[in-house]
Parts: sequence; C-alpha cells; structure tokens
Amino acid sequence: MTEIKGFTSRIVHHDRLQGFADGPVHAPIYNSVPFAYATTAELVAVFQGRASGHAYARQSTPTTDSLQSLISAAEHGIGTLVFATGMAAISGTLLALMQRGDHLIASRFLFGNTHSLLATLANFGIEVTLVDATDCANVSAARQANTRLVFVETIANPGTQIASLDEIGQWCTQHKLLFIVDNTITSPYLFNPKNVQAGLIVNSLSKYFGGHGTVLGGAITDTGQYDWTDYPNIFPAYRQGDAHKWGLTQIKKKALRDMGGTLSSDGAYQLAVGAETIALRMDRACANATALAILLERNDKVEAVYYPGLASHPQHAKAQRWFRSFGAILSFDLKAPYDCAALLDDMALVINATHLGDNRTLALPMASTIFFEMGADKRAALGIGDRMIRCSVGIEDTEDLISCFAEALARLSPKVDANSQ
Ligand SMILES: *Cc1c(COP(=O)(O)O)cnc(C)c1O
Repeated sequence: MTEIKGFTSRIVHHDRLQGFADGPVHAPIYNSVPFAYATTAELVAVFQGRASGHAYARQSTPTTDSLQSLISAAEHGIGTLVFATGMAAISGTLLALMQRGDHLIASRFLFGNTHSLLATLANFGIEVTLVDATDCANVSAARQANTRLVFVETIANPGTQIASLDEIGQWCTQHKLLFIVDNTITSPYLFNPKNVQAGLIVNSLSKYFGGHGTVLGGAITDTGQYDWTDYPNIFPAYRQGDAHKWGLTQIKKKALRDMGGTLSSDGAYQLAVGAETIALRMDRACANATALAILLERNDKVEAVYYPGLASHPQHAKAQRWFRSFGAILSFDLKAPYDCAALLDDMALVINATHLGDNRTLALPMASTIFFEMGADKRAALGIGDRMIRCSVGIEDTEDLISCFAEALARLSPKVDANSQ
C-alpha cells in the first residue's frame, strides 16, 4: 500500500489504524482505572515490563496510549508520554532526570511558569543558569562539570526570541548533554525539534495541539537521538534492555507513576480530536499573524513589532530556514503616550485573556499582568516594555481582524495624563 506521508493525512487516519475492536475511527474513551488479567502470571509480566499492557490508569490507558502514538508520529519520535498539563510534563521530566548538585542551562526567555519552576528546583539544590540562548556561545560558556541538560523554547513569548536551535543541538551532541526543546509555540506542524538534534521534546497540548481552549494536556517525546547510556542519573532498574527506552521509562515511573500528573482518557480523546485540524488552524493563524504584523509595523502609533515573519526580526532568516511558518504569537509596543487598555478595550474581536493557541484572538498588556509580579527592573532586563501587548492570533477571517486593529488604532487618541490637567 502507498505510504501515508502528509502531516494531516497521518493524524486523521491515526486512530483507525490502531486496531481497536469494532473498527472505530476515534480511539474509544477507556474510563476504567484497573485492568484485569486472566492469570496472575500475565499481571506479573505486565508489572515487570516483560509484556505490554495496562496496570493502573495513573500510568496509561489504551486511550492515552493512542494519543501518545499520535504525538510520536507527528514529532517523528520513538515514544511519548502524556500528562495532565504542559507544566506536569516539564516538572515531572526535570524532577525525574535531575538530582541535587546537578546543573542545567536554560534560555532566559522562557514561559513564565517554567521560569518559576526552575527557581523552585534551585531551592532543592539543582543549579540553574539562565542565558540568552539566541547565541550558542552563551550556552557553551555556561557549561560546568555537573551540567546535565539544556532547555530552550523554539519561539519565546512574548518577545518572540528564537533560540539558536541547530548550533545548540550540535553542541549538546558533541558534549553528550541532553537537549530538551519546548515546541509548544511552533507545534509539530511548524517544526520538529528532532531536526536540530533535540533528545526530548515538550509540547503543551493545551495550546495549538488541542487548539480550542477546552482541555489541558502536556507531552514529552523522545526523538531517539540521545544516547541514554551517557546520562548519569538513570537508575539501575531502568538501565536494562534497549537503551533508547531508558529515559522515557524513568520519566514514566518517576513522574507519571510517582508524581501522578496524569491525563484522563476523556482529555486524551478531546486532544486527539483537536489535533486533526492543527495544520488547517495553524496555516490560517500564521497568515493572520503575518497580515497583522505588516499592518502594525506600518502604523505610526506603534513603536515596535516582534514577529519572526518580519524581515526586521533579528532571527528572521533562521525562522525561515527552520519553521514551516512564523507562528501566531505577535507582540508590539505602542508609542508613548498611547495606552494599551484604551486600544484593547476598543477591539470587538480581541478577547482580554491570558491563554494562547486558541482559535480566537486573545491579547493582553504584558507589564501590568503576567510580568507585573517581577517588578520594573527584571521586566526591563527581559525586554518587556510598559506599553507591550501580546497577541495570540486566532483563525478569524483575515479581513475582520485587519479592520478591527486598523480601525481601533485610528480611533486611539493620546492618553491625557491626569496630573497635567
Ligand atoms: C502554556 C505553555 C506551557 C505550559 O503548558 P500548560 O498546558 O498550560 O501547563 C509550557 N510551555 C510553553 C511554551 C507554553 O506556552
């Protein structure tokens, strides 16, 4: 038979080809917590990893297994574990792989909660160095004898900085370090971190993957490129058999089983349905973001636009080389004295909300919300200006979005400072 190659063809036919009884085209929702075996010997074989099967739903069900194999197919990986949220996937993975006294290097431009998680890990005696990962020289300068891994995102939010993915990947391979790439903002449709030698890939499924803002989920995918025999923290119980499986086995046991951030079968089903249209949604959202970025860049009330699709973006050429398109996260600074709230409250299609990767366009001012707690100095160091707005561009009709922004900007008048009246 002809091989099914295309991204969407593979996803929409994935569940049907899993061979569930009675031929459903969607993986059935298995809501049983325990799984029964006819004989004790069979149950023992599953417990000891000698036979495949499900023991208890905290670790797996046939429904979550099916979503895992769908994500592995989308990322060209050798295996995937799904979690209740992206943060459960990241925290579980780092806690499963790191030990007191170890060191990790991470990008300074990180999703806020990942940033906060790394500060928690530091309290447990794990050393963390944050660097500007748009330049690999900063990553290599941070290496210590106890460095275990490097963690970066593809396109950072809200500044849209792009890590020097291929150079960091090569450097990690050369030094036998594990390279973890959070692919949430690009999704497996725009980019496969396997192409830049990532060992593990993170996806928050709550964003573009599920896409509809109705369900949370997270995933870790092993690309098969990291040699786990080089990783010092694999426990003896998991250093057996095929070394390709050691990493995910330890993460499954230490993170899913022991920490329990498990995705429900209901959630897995909803995410698999959402995933059928990733490519269609991303194509539209990226086209909308590009159109908006061009409009904003030409507007004289806008100081700066941060979008990898613009020729003015510092990593534009790299983004063009690595990603199928430039993503749908776009940020911009209004010029003084224009006011973010006055603009946002005047746009009928733009929802004031902090989520991203939704079908709807969402936006919020950065300095007064997500980055408020850290204070002005840290904001300045991260390039978060007082008049920065982040947009997660949705799939609305392009003409509607363009008119919404263009007309609200035209109506925007300078904010009168109360003290000067
Ligand atoms: C949202 C997000 C996460 C966390 O995912 P949740 O599913 O919300 O826990 C991690 N990384 C990035 C880049 C994100 O945007």
